[in-house]
Amino acid sequence: MSHPPVVTRFAPSPTGYLHIGGARTALFNWLYARGRGGKFLLRIEDTDRARSTPEATAAIFDAMEWLGLDYDGEPVSQAARAERHVEVAEEMLAAGTAYKCFSTQEEIEAFREAARAEGRSTLFQSPWRDADPATHPDAPYVVRVKAPRDGDTVIEDKVQGKVTIRNDQLDDMICLRSDGTPTYMLAVVVDDFDMGVTHVIRGDDHLNNAARQMLVYRAMGWDLPVFAHIPLIHGPDGKKLSKRHGAAGVEEYRALGYPAPAMRNYLARLGWSHGDDEVFTDEQAIAWFDLDGIGKGAARLDFKKLDHVSAQH
Ligand code: GLU
Repeated sequence: MSHPPVVTRFAPSPTGYLHIGGARTALFNWLYARGRGGKFLLRIEDTDRARSTPEATAAIFDAMEWLGLDYDGEPVSQAARAERHVEVAEEMLAAGTAYKCFSTQEEIEAFREAARAEGRSTLFQSPWRDADPATHPDAPYVVRVKAPRDGDTVIEDKVQGKVTIRNDQLDDMICLRSDGTPTYMLAVVVDDFDMGVTHVIRGDDHLNNAARQMLVYRAMGWDLPVFAHIPLIHGPDGKKLSKRHGAAGVEEYRALGYPAPAMRNYLARLGWSHGDDEVFTDEQAIAWFDLDGIGKGAARLDFKKLDHVSAQH
């Protein structure tokens, strides 16, 4: 039996320096693709115009180059694909898997207030979901994707296992804002589909997003990618990694003089293991790397280990 070629991607938002958690995500995607004759793609998620900066995009390119994480083809700009995202929203509207919602912010707030007072779920249920288009007012609207009302959404995650989310916890996600611009949640799915991404390997802070993104895959009748949500990196004290722990950005490690091969080796071992092996070459990492070796617990930064690995490279 032949398998479809593997396509992975790294999809950073250019809103600051490249965090080593992001670099590790990039590395895992790179290792997975390179070990399988697949492709590794780069997508800059610059849809948030207010927070995205050219400096941050340049810092990502720079860090990727220094780390030796070469990607296939040209990097994709998510913002440049907005027309295609809108096209998909319109297809869902035409198919009836999405709808125009004219509820105002005040109406949504009032719905939530009433639900709170009555002890019901405050998840907004739009009265426009099944409305006859003939009754549509000439007013601003958002486009929402219909979430199933009953049952569960199950994510078969390669790292987290089976993750079940009750559908009554999912709202009808907005995919086009009232100014007609696509939301990030829509853009990610359309881009992954169009880029032929087969494996979505990313931080587990996106696990809940996966359940919502699945709505779009279903609405469009697209095959789901394989999801692998990796636990985030923690500091040596077990708390979520931040500047307080010392070097959190790739640039800082580079400035400290750590060689790139040692960084790759060390980052590969943050949350992934191959037996007791601590020091290895790129060739070995590429040959060994597999999603099964990713642990379910948060990996902890350990500067002593980094120094140890570094001395061997
Ligand atoms: N742009 C997102 C981030 O930087 C990642 C989205 C994804 O990998 O699906 O956190």
